[in-house]
Amino acid sequence: MVSTPHPEDHRSGFIALIGRPNVGKSTLVNQLVGEKVAITSPVAQTTRNRLRAILTMEQAQMVLVDTPGIHKPHHLLGERLVRSARSAIGEVDLVLLLLEGCERPGRGDAFIVNLLRQQSLPVVVALNKWDKVPPANQDEARAAYAELLADSDWPVHCCSALDGDGCAPLTEAMAARLPQGPQLYPPDMVCDQPERILLGELIREQVLMHTREEVPHSVAVTIDRVEDMPAKGSGPGRTAVLATVLVERKSQKGILIGKGGAMLKTIGQGARLQMQTLIDGPVYLELFVKVVPDWRSKPARLAELGYGQDA
Ligand code: GDP
Ligand code: MG
Repeated sequence: MVSTPHPEDHRSGFIALIGRPNVGKSTLVNQLVGEKVAITSPVAQTTRNRLRAILTMEQAQMVLVDTPGIHKPHHLLGERLVRSARSAIGEVDLVLLLLEGCERPGRGDAFIVNLLRQQSLPVVVALNKWDKVPPANQDEARAAYAELLADSDWPVHCCSALDGDGCAPLTEAMAARLPQGPQLYPPDMVCDQPERILLGELIREQVLMHTREEVPHSVAVTIDRVEDMPAKGSGPGRTAVLATVLVERKSQKGILIGKGGAMLKTIGQGARLQMQTLIDGPVYLELFVKVVPDWRSKPARLAELGYGQDA
């Protein structure tokens, strides 16, 4: 049995995961928390809503805030993503800066490092995707990043969010830099997002996975109804989920539905399997596709979809 830690020894706080799109922030959240709470994808800019995942250890509780990557805004939604990442920096006790260890530091990295240097917050650095750096190149990669981070006293850890290598020392370094404080959430809670948002994110993940280039980021999902369906005859009880996928153009609707509905079926099946894991029981999923022209540029529509003023 884990004994209740002495209050003076216990640390807790909020940690913002900062890094450019695709560096592995969501993968790391899932790796650290040990459950799938964040949507990941090979396509950049997947994380729209800010997600808090909770990692409870014996001596510390960390609330990981997964933010969209900091990047140059292209349209209204892009601007909101950047604002959300920037405001996350203002609300946390520690920043975990993720850098792509398998690539040379770029101008985007220098931009983020400069932004963080202007804050007084403690920073821990993770050189992620270290599994992709051949051993012969590791010294060189470390040196390139040491140059980028020169004059900072930020600890640097090489890790792989994908296979978990190096993640334990990284979490210890983070815990050690949090202020002393009590547990903020119940120890068995791993995520503070309402289930509906998670369900919507699982559908969006399947859409991005199966349609890639054709329907990039002009997709939003609303969960219209979640209901318990009682057992019928010999069949088991199920959770019914009714959801709508919003796209901006008619052509995108065509792609999403596919020939004879084949694409929508594939997306629905993938999402349903993920939902069954999340809910831990059988799911019946019904998906609709709706065209809402230009939804990304309409503030009222964004707010309705949960991408509020600060998200
Ligand atoms: P985010 O945009 O920063 O949240 O990035 P994601 O977590 O969505 O990851 C982007 C892509 O990088 C996905 O295809 C991940 O599987 C991959 N990825 C993330 N971390 C690692 C890692 O440590 N090693 C490798 N090889 N791939 C990774
Ligand atoms: Mg992400």
